[in-house]
Amino acid sequence: MNQTPDTAAPILVNAAFDSGNIEVLSIDGTRATLAIRRDNQSEFAQWFHFRVSGVAGRELDLAITGLNTSAYPDGWPGYSACVSEDRQLWTRAASDFDRGRDGGTLHIRHRPAGDVVWFAYFAPYSMDRHHDLVSEAAASPGVVHRTLGLSLDGQPIDCLDLGEGPLQVWLYARQHPGESMAEWWMEGALEALTDPADPHGRALRQACTFHIVPNCNPDGSARGHLRTNAVGVNLNREWHEPTAERAPEVLAIRNAMDATGVDFAMDVHGDEAIPAVFLAGFEGIPSLTDAQLAGYQRYRAILDRRTPDFQVRRGYPETRPGQGNLSMSTNQVAERFGAVAMTLEMPFKDNADLPDPLFGWSPERSKLLARECLAALLEWIDTRES
Ligand code: ZN
Repeated sequence: MNQTPDTAAPILVNAAFDSGNIEVLSIDGTRATLAIRRDNQSEFAQWFHFRVSGVAGRELDLAITGLNTSAYPDGWPGYSACVSEDRQLWTRAASDFDRGRDGGTLHIRHRPAGDVVWFAYFAPYSMDRHHDLVSEAAASPGVVHRTLGLSLDGQPIDCLDLGEGPLQVWLYARQHPGESMAEWWMEGALEALTDPADPHGRALRQACTFHIVPNCNPDGSARGHLRTNAVGVNLNREWHEPTAERAPEVLAIRNAMDATGVDFAMDVHGDEAIPAVFLAGFEGIPSLTDAQLAGYQRYRAILDRRTPDFQVRRGYPETRPGQGNLSMSTNQVAERFGAVAMTLEMPFKDNADLPDPLFGWSPERSKLLARECLAALLEWIDTRES
């Protein structure tokens, strides 16, 4: 005899896993009222990641409430939640934001095919996948792996060194752990740089020595934080005077930078509100030089020409002369080393100039963008005035 699913049974919502984050306020059949848990010892809340089971092909009606006091309330209008049934392919679920309901509510409606379905703010990049990424890269010819230090929870801060060239290039990501697209970007970058057949990777390894930190904040990643480490510290506000007590992650990375010097640096992030890929520079640092600024602008122009997924119209306002915040890594690295440093921002929503309603901004697009960023770096090097 056929078993039929219990169409009245309440769904189960759970977030007790790597990078899980949700609080269940109430469940009634297939309707759930939810809220996002704040980062430990901090006010930031925006990242969510949870599974729903007992679905059995029924239409889900999920309300994530209280979002007017989330870290970036402007992140919700025009945003659609990421959804997956196999945890490999992440598409977007029908979502809308109502500022007036329950303190700001993201309403998600979705009918999965199977019994278990996963939702997240962006396609997650697990710590397991991080270790796969690091180990596979470390096993590639010519790659040296270093543990720069330990996080407050005791996790390694992994760094991969490769290349033989004179230009010291630092690429680092996920200071803000909820910005998981940043580590998807890193996966694309490492695939290109460790592929013995990739022409950009080969030429870049001759011109540069790369130092790559795919995840600056493993504790926040595992804990399901948006923006902070284990004790609620925003790592990208610690670069002027990092301490072992508050931000050993930054202290370890900055000390390693001091040992190599830095010529070119990219700090990879995601932006909650702006539906575009953009760069932010270091215009406000005290010791800004014309050549340094021109180097940044030239890189940005090359990337703009190379890919329709990058643009220069949308972004953050430039900091006024002398007003640069040296607690932020891009400013600190530009000031400290005279480097061409930059913050790359990818959207949680989509690139509004080239939208994809099914996937939005995605892991695949993050990885392709990394390849374009590297190809732009090679062109930037090749076309430098000697
Ligand atoms: Zn960020």
